[in-house]
Amino acid sequence: MTARPQTARTVGFKPGERNVFFHILTACNLSCRHCYINASQHGTETLSAATVIDWLRLFARPEEPSNLILLGGEPTLHPDLPSIIRAAKSMRFAVTVDTNGYLFHDFLNRVTPKELDYLSFSLDGPDAAVNDPIRGENSFAVCTENLRKAVGKGFRTSVIYTVSSLNIDHLHRMPRLLKSLGVKRFFIQVIGLRGKPAADKKEGEVVWQVDPDHWLRVVPPVAAEAAELGLHVTYPKVFLEPGEVFECAANVAENYFVFPNGRVYQCPLCEDYPIHAFRIENNRLVRHEGINEDRFFPLTIPEGCVMNKLLQPDNIDYRADGTPRHRISCCLLKQEIIPQSANKNNE
Ligand code: SF4
Ligand code: SF4
Repeated sequence: MTARPQTARTVGFKPGERNVFFHILTACNLSCRHCYINASQHGTETLSAATVIDWLRLFARPEEPSNLILLGGEPTLHPDLPSIIRAAKSMRFAVTVDTNGYLFHDFLNRVTPKELDYLSFSLDGPDAAVNDPIRGENSFAVCTENLRKAVGKGFRTSVIYTVSSLNIDHLHRMPRLLKSLGVKRFFIQVIGLRGKPAADKKEGEVVWQVDPDHWLRVVPPVAAEAAELGLHVTYPKVFLEPGEVFECAANVAENYFVFPNGRVYQCPLCEDYPIHAFRIENNRLVRHEGINEDRFFPLTIPEGCVMNKLLQPDNIDYRADGTPRHRISCCLLKQEIIPQSANKNNE
């Protein structure tokens, strides 16, 4: 008998959950075509380890765990990343490092698998022919080689695949590749219309975004297949189904997107504009005065996410009567499939 494919569940926002996405620098050795790092808005400095640790204290909760995602640029370019990770663990953060796979400064030999909750690699194709035109020459070979080394050393690893029109039709080849590499989690992301993809679009070059039908035809079945192979899969909800409730993450959970110039956003869609809700000043987290992102979070519109409607209106399709064909979910709302093997282990 063939097992029924597993269906995804929507991971609702948990009140009180705190996720800190901390860009400790913006420098990077690659220049991916879809990079969203915006130095004029995010700063170019590399924060010292002492500053990173001081800033982490602003978000740490000694009474309960929080999640910390250390990002760049490329975070392993920071020579003190191992001591930052240790300091974060001592503050009860569950720590993930998002890397492009180059793992500078002998990273795998300076951190132990016990000290790091997840090491997350970015790959945008199942082979060099698809990945390298997006992420850079030889990046597939380097990333997969280091991924193998990390798995061999016992690190829990995940892979992030950013779906765009350039690679969506190759997504189906990822589950087997990830299984063979020993990866535990698979994050499928959707390309945003920010950074370089937005510039391309203005110039009439590549249209990066995928239309709703294409997304729905490809992503959920690939996610189900990956889960059947034992991978824990997460992908964005994007389109709400009729009857599903719209929620803005900023009204429920606590997400902080921290940049080296001290800007702290609550919504990732806002990061290209100086409308951050908070800033860090003299090692204190203070409100950013003015009309900022947080004024928009309580608004309710038929299209779903207000920021999406304001900043990426091309994402929304309308019927002849002017009503939106789909409501767009919060970009932080995820679908998840936990493989049956993991469920059994938890029983
Ligand atoms: S690895 Fe990340 S930060 Fe570096 S260029 Fe690519 S997308 Fe940008
Ligand atoms: S993406 Fe939309 S719904 Fe999500 S936090 Fe931003 S404004 Fe709120």
